[in-house]
Amino acid sequence: MTLLRCSSFYRTEPVGFVDQEDFVNAVAEVRTVLTARALLQALQQIETEMGRVRTTRWGPRIIDLDILLFGQEVVQEGDLVIPHPELHRRRFVLVPLNELASYVIHPSFGVSIQGLMQRLQDESRVERIV
Ligand code: AMP
Repeated sequence: MTLLRCSSFYRTEPVGFVDQEDFVNAVAEVRTVLTARALLQALQQIETEMGRVRTTRWGPRIIDLDILLFGQEVVQEGDLVIPHPELHRRRFVLVPLNELASYVIHPSFGVSIQGLMQRLQDESRVERIV
């Protein structure tokens, strides 16, 4: 897996389970020969190696690596959904994603990332740090 680009880092307000510290979010673009499923396994292995222990679903975590997009592929399996099902609803995802991929089309909606940003209802706080 090769890192091609990374967005700025953002301090973001927790959404869902709100009684916790702010998060830091960023989006990376990688090149890989792995399938989407193998990529998910590789990301989960990185999470485990970094010391993530799975507790509360929406609670604090040391790291959370998600697949947002996988080219123009659409995957709808129980444990793997691509594009990520929360992508279009979350400001903390769309703001960094828009830095890297504003003209990329969301393959399920046929709308660009910039277009999803314009339709976004989530007004939670997303502040650029670096
Ligand atoms: P999380 O608590 O965000 O780490 O949720 C991880 C679970 O979401 C894993 O068990 C994955 O099987 C599932 N999942 C479904 N779609 C995705 C995706 N696009 N990226 C990462 N995890 C996913």
